[in-house]
Amino acid sequence: MNLAGKAALVTGGSRGIGAAIAKALAKDGADVAITYVSAEDKAQAVVDEIRATGRRAVAIRADSADMAEVAASVERAASEFGRLDILVNNAGIAQMGPLQEVSVEDMDRTLSIHVRASFVASQAAARHMGEGGRIVNIGSCLAERVAGPEMTLYAMSKAALLGLSKGLAFDLGPRGITANVVQPGPTDTDMNPADGDHAQEQRTKLALGHYGSADDIAATVVHLAGPGGRFITGASIAVDGGFAA
Ligand code: NDP
Repeated sequence: MNLAGKAALVTGGSRGIGAAIAKALAKDGADVAITYVSAEDKAQAVVDEIRATGRRAVAIRADSADMAEVAASVERAASEFGRLDILVNNAGIAQMGPLQEVSVEDMDRTLSIHVRASFVASQAAARHMGEGGRIVNIGSCLAERVAGPEMTLYAMSKAALLGLSKGLAFDLGPRGITANVVQPGPTDTDMNPADGDHAQEQRTKLALGHYGSADDIAATVVHLAGPGGRFITGASIAVDGGFAA
């Protein structure tokens, strides 16, 4: 139980990769807060599953497009557990489509949820973190290799998390806090189902030839959050089945 006594906040923890990360952190001993925006029942199910293992857990409704709600969710998590050691900026949306159909509102929403919320939550969480604090941003393999049309906005927003993570590594390194970005490849979730319309095309771009699971991503996040992650900072770590290879 490497994370016993630690407290974590996972944004977008009601489903998919975020839910897997929340449960994996709890399995390793952490108390875990998750945020969600609409799936209250699913968020509650994640919390119930974690509580059944003896860890503390709380679900916080906080829209990652609203910076006041993002900052408040960090304060709530820290006050719920009396500390905050791990922040995972995971909440995300996949706004894909023809370039000319992307509106300024679409752009603002994606950049708010992926970039602004990750900055604001990191800034707020860092105030509560001490030596051993961990920030993990969930980026995407599309940040460094797009390899197809209609993903410009999404790729742009995830690329910003590289700069965020590297900058945070220097701002927070003197306090013993690490910051990294994990870049998943195609992962079987509601956002990108392994039996979806574009799944086969994605498989052809992977060295391993198959989708990852949310648990595959969670395993790397748990490693970064634990003692094995103490000398890893400012790194981008592909968990992508070889998409970037
Ligand atoms: P899902 O669509 O399965 O889950 C998205 C999660 O984010 C849900 O918990 C959802 O909450 C939450 N969320 C969405 N919008 C908001 C918002 N405005 N405020 C707060 N929470 C929000 O996605 P995945 O699990 O697949 O994706 C997780 C992360 O991984 C994302 O950042 C995504 O970009 C990234 N990623 C995913 C890949 C994939 O192939 N699946 C590949 C590469 C990166 P609610 O349930 O309430 O809607």
